[in-house]
Order: sequence, then structure tokens, then C-alpha cells
Amino acid sequence: MIDRFFNHINQIDPHIKFTQEGLSDNKHAFLDCLVSVEVDRSLTVSVYRKQTHTDQYLQFGSNHPLIQKLGVVNTLFHRADSIITKDSDKITEYQHLRKALGNCGYQDWAINKALNKDNTKTAATSSNQTGKTTSITIPYHGDLSEKLKRIYRDHGITTHFKPTNTIRQSLVHPKDKQPKGRIRGVVYGVRCSEELACQDSYIGETAQPLHNRMLQHRRASSGGNDSAVFLHLKASGHHFDTKDVRILDREQRWFERGVKEGIWVRAEQPSLNRGGGVRAKLSHGWDRIIKEIPRQLSSILEVPGSREDNKVLFQTLMQCFTIPDNNV
Ligand SMILES: [Zn+2]
Repeated sequence: MIDRFFNHINQIDPHIKFTQEGLSDNKHAFLDCLVSVEVDRSLTVSVYRKQTHTDQYLQFGSNHPLIQKLGVVNTLFHRADSIITKDSDKITEYQHLRKALGNCGYQDWAINKALNKDNTKTAATSSNQTGKTTSITIPYHGDLSEKLKRIYRDHGITTHFKPTNTIRQSLVHPKDKQPKGRIRGVVYGVRCSEELACQDSYIGETAQPLHNRMLQHRRASSGGNDSAVFLHLKASGHHFDTKDVRILDREQRWFERGVKEGIWVRAEQPSLNRGGGVRAKLSHGWDRIIKEIPRQLSSILEVPGSREDNKVLFQTLMQCFTIPDNNV
């Protein structure tokens, strides 16, 4: 019957070919189960690993949310629990998992925490059932994100993390780079080109192509409301070079762009912004974080790696400003 069935399923579609394996040592691998035929013809199941399996799991020291790492532990122990039939095999598998996870940097506390998760989870959800739940998605940035998560939790907000550094982001660039002047939706920094004599700088934001905005900074406005940059150039006879205009951030959304502008103005304190004109009024509660942002405008030298850090910091801050109901 086995051969007839085997021939039958191999005739159904010329593109799909099945193979069959016999028992080896009275054992048979099926998916991740190792099925053994015992002397009394009963079947027992344990975990099957390929010869090439190396017990490499997500490293504990890797920059991932703790909950993902606990998920790795949980999944492996759950599999051991649900497919292994013999208690002695279960114990062997538990010991194997603790050793393998230990080699990937998981300490006992983390493994125990993961295995106790079910109890704490049910307690948390039952106490949280009153009132509506709000959730927020923020970029994952190690300790900072974990701390924010705890703060949000105190306010009844569930936090989800999204990755900031994916292979796709690093490798896939399907479009040609756009010339700087044509980029729309930017926060930009202008520095007076009289470098030694004048330290004046200005930060602004625009939905228009950067080039158009720079033209406006070079001439008087028709409405009589001249830009701070124009007034400085007019009063001092200085000039600025469009190639020295720094794009500090890109953001298409109007509200978010205003907040990013506010953050940059707070961080860089550009002299020509002193009259205000910033759309977003940031709380001074953010000053401690904003102080940590490496300066982009006050030094000509690009700080290596800082742009990526800034991006993450901004994304995190931005999410804080866009919580539904503004209840934090
Ligand atoms: Zn100047």
C-alpha cells in the first residue's frame, strides 16, 4: 500500500516530486519531531534537529527588545513541552536548551522570567480590563525604549517596538539620489558664509523644494514680512552659499516637521532664530534629551554615526508628541 500510495501522489503533478525515507534505527524525522518506534510498536516523539544544526539563537546581547528574546526561550520550551512524549526526554531537552541558550548569552534570570511569563501576563491583563487601551509604536533603541515603555505602562499605554536598522534599509536604494535643492519637506540649517567674522545661523522648515526656499531667503518678501536671514544679509552685506545649507531632517508631515524644527532650534540655538517663529512650542522637560543631540550646524565637520543616532532619537521624540488624546 505504501508503494501504491507513493506512486499515486507522484503522478498528480509533474512538477511536484515526493521522496520517501525508510526508518533508520527505528526512528523517523518528521518536521521538527523525531518519531521512534518502540519495541511494543508504540510511538514516542522527541525533538528532531538536523545534523547541521548549531544551536545558534538570537544572541542575548543583541540590540533587540527583551520581549523578543524571552519569546525565543518561550518558543523552544513550549515545543519541548508540547511534542515530547517521555518525561525523561523532556528533562534532557530542558537541560539541552538551558545550555544552548546559555551559550547565546541567556542567563538563568532571563530564562526563568520567560517561563513565568504566562502567570504575570494573565494578572496584568485582568487588572487592565477597565477603561480603553491605547497603544504606541516607537523605534527600538535599547535602554531608552525600554524606559519609555515602563513610563507609558504607568499611564496605561501599551508599547510596541519597530526595528530601526533593517538589512532592507541598509541595502535597498531603488531611486537615484535627488539633488539637494529639489528635496521637499525639510528642516534646514543656514550658516552665514562669513565664517570667521560671523557666526550667525538660522534653522527653518519648508514644504517647498529647498532651492525655492533659499531664493526667498535672499530677497525681500512682497508682504513686507522679511525673513531673518534676508534681514541679516541686508544689514551686514554678508552672503550664504546654497551648498553649505545643511538638511537636518526630512519630514513630509506638517505637524511633525514643525516639531523637528523646534527640536533642532532648541539643540543648536541658532542666532537668527532668537525672534521666535518656531511653530512647535516644546516643553523644557525635553531639554535634557535634546542637549545630547550632536550639533550639526555649529561645526562644519560631520560627526560620524551621529545622523543615524539622531534619526532614532527624533523618531522616538516624535512619537511622544503624537500620542492620541495627548494624555502624556
Ligand atoms: Zn553673517
